[in-house]
Amino acid sequence: MTGAADPQHQQHQRLAQLRANLATVERRVADACAAAGRARDGVTLIVVTKTYPASDVRLLSSLGVRDVAENRDQDAGPKAAECHDLPLAWHFVGQLQTNKVRSVLKYADMVHSVDRIRLVDALSVEVQKSERPELGCLIQVALEGGPEPGATHRGGALPDQVLPLAEALADAPGLRLDGVMAVAPLRGRYAGDPAGAFARLAEIASLVHRQHPAATMVSAGMSGDLEQAIAAGATHVRVGTAVLGVRPPLG
Ligand SMILES: *Cc1c(COP(=O)(O)O)cnc(C)c1O
Repeated sequence: MTGAADPQHQQHQRLAQLRANLATVERRVADACAAAGRARDGVTLIVVTKTYPASDVRLLSSLGVRDVAENRDQDAGPKAAECHDLPLAWHFVGQLQTNKVRSVLKYADMVHSVDRIRLVDALSVEVQKSERPELGCLIQVALEGGPEPGATHRGGALPDQVLPLAEALADAPGLRLDGVMAVAPLRGRYAGDPAGAFARLAEIASLVHRQHPAATMVSAGMSGDLEQAIAAGATHVRVGTAVLGVRPPLG
């Protein structure tokens, strides 16, 4: 077979596209680090592969990507299983129901979206029951305020709940408190102001860090706002669209 319908040709094209997109993102990250007077190696790129197939994860791995993220267990589980031979760290970044915890712990190296005590307890119990190593956890901070009736809640603990949650997490067997995570909010006082949102996250991160010196991670910034996140001190950016392309709307 030759030409555009040849699967091998398609994989080749996809590889070239991913390589080019990664180079563009890498340039943006490097420029943002330089502009902020930060070392490039102070920021880790996590590629968010949600909705994209395991074949893309495999290509990304061949291009040197070491960290990938997923937000839905039903997609992530099979994908991670297909890619178990690859040297990848899997980050779970979606809202996590307690009934999915056991499944997520089979492949996730880190969970970025810990936002309530019930979830801390469930994660701790299941890690202890399993053979797996300690789970790295970030507390997701909601910067838009509480959920409004009818609004889609993107998850996260309110800022005043973060320190008590950090305390609980730090004390929970099997869990390791690594830092904080946020998504720039679409509503509330920081809507349209990712720089303001990430500055607020940085304040919260430093409060957590003061009490828990090993909690140094700040996971913030996506395709549209990674520069603002890096300027505000993000240590991990989570980039999907800018590497893999625009996702079809979720059903
Ligand atoms: C999808 C997703 C991202 C990546 O967003 P892009 O805009 O595609 O870069 C980052 N973080 C979380 C929590 C996500 O769900």
